[in-house]
Amino acid sequence: MIYKLSDIDFTYPGSTRQILKKVSFDLAEGQIMEILGPNGAGKSTLLNCMAGLLKPHAGTIELDGRDLSKMSPKEIASLVAYVPQNHTPSFGYRVKDFVIMGVAPKLGIFGKPSAEDEKNCMEVLEELGIDHLAERSYLEISGGERQQAMIARELVQDPKVILFDEPTAHLDYGNQHRMLKLIRSMSRKGYAVVITTHNPDHALLLKDRAGILDKEGHMTCGPSEEIITEESLSKVYDCDLRLVHIEEMDRRACVAPKL
Ligand code: ADP
Repeated sequence: MIYKLSDIDFTYPGSTRQILKKVSFDLAEGQIMEILGPNGAGKSTLLNCMAGLLKPHAGTIELDGRDLSKMSPKEIASLVAYVPQNHTPSFGYRVKDFVIMGVAPKLGIFGKPSAEDEKNCMEVLEELGIDHLAERSYLEISGGERQQAMIARELVQDPKVILFDEPTAHLDYGNQHRMLKLIRSMSRKGYAVVITTHNPDHALLLKDRAGILDKEGHMTCGPSEEIITEESLSKVYDCDLRLVHIEEMDRRACVAPKL
């Protein structure tokens, strides 16, 4: 198991609302876990706990068999890549320079990327199909391409797990679909992937593990086919949702009622 969360409780300091209550699940390498839940349920909070940025006040998180709370940020960063939600670029770095900054945690303050690092960076860009953007300014590329550049920057660190906070937010429909394909191909290469989303259809498409976090802080986890039901979705989103099987696409889709 790459992650083992056992009975995680979390409350923000000074707040009376407990965001996470006894959240438990396991994640193996090559698995995708989609975390669903309404706005403000605590999905990002959970990812921050998994990245070691927030400390749960009860329960344990094991990362690759070790107690996360006893690992240094550098040790965590060598295993976990975290792609946060919004990234507003402030400098016009070339894409390849932006990506190579991903190796910075390994290098120390005065270290410079080696020729090997640069080769690795170009390989990752190729793998993601964005090597043609290498010389372009990060400010000039589209939102979908930026997201891919951010992923590339994480992959050059050679992590075992990728945590994505809403990787499809701000992307148009086509780019959302391409992002899901990319996530699935990463899992097939052996990365464990955790993503948060507002869109239950994405969990239906990825068809792996899912966790539904409700506003009370409880999370139901399991195979997405089992836990994503009309009842569970309608309850968590407070909306009368239907799951329909689309014959010609051979998949289930989540459909909201007419207005
Ligand atoms: P989600 O990602 O599911 O939309 P979040 O994890 O961002 O939810 O937030 C869960 C709840 O915690 C929200 O009510 C939010 O306002 C609150 N919250 C988030 N960050 C902080 C913080 N730093 N201090 C106090 N409360 C916070």
